[in-house]
Amino acid sequence: MLKKWSNSSLIENTYKARYYKKIFNRKIKYITIHHMGAIHSAEGLGRIYQLLGRENSCHYGVGKDGEIALYVEEKYVAFSNRNNESNKVSIAVEICNSEIGGDFRVDDVVLNSAIKLIADIAKRNKLGRLEKGKTLCWHSMFANTECPGKYLLNKMDYICEKANEINGYRVKK
Ligand SMILES: [Zn+2]
Repeated sequence: MLKKWSNSSLIENTYKARYYKKIFNRKIKYITIHHMGAIHSAEGLGRIYQLLGRENSCHYGVGKDGEIALYVEEKYVAFSNRNNESNKVSIAVEICNSEIGGDFRVDDVVLNSAIKLIADIAKRNKLGRLEKGKTLCWHSMFANTECPGKYLLNKMDYICEKANEINGYRVKK
């Protein structure tokens, strides 16, 4: 049966960015977490993608006040992970930092918003109970990069736990 594609209803705005022109028969296996490595609003990141116009994009961005935007529809493959095989099976989320350099910290309001979005993506794409490194992944698993930074890396268990809670999965003992 053909998958019925949808996008998150949590988005406040859409800013179209570039994606792979080739259409893949795409099956979502995991969500990939990125950090912006910068402090931008969701709109600001969208404008950057549009301005640069190059092969650099992700599906969603969570901006500095926790606002969520869509850049590439889930049914299309974004350029985010700099790894084609990974891009094809993934939905990518860019999360705004509150600190540039150091641990690349993220504000709670931004993190909480990202968790809601992640729970929503997981639910609609039937990823089940999120598992760190399996259904919830991060950029440096697929490319030589510091992304998503130390702070978010240390939060992966927490993100899984909270997103799973939203989706009605009990905390694993
Ligand atoms: Zn990244």
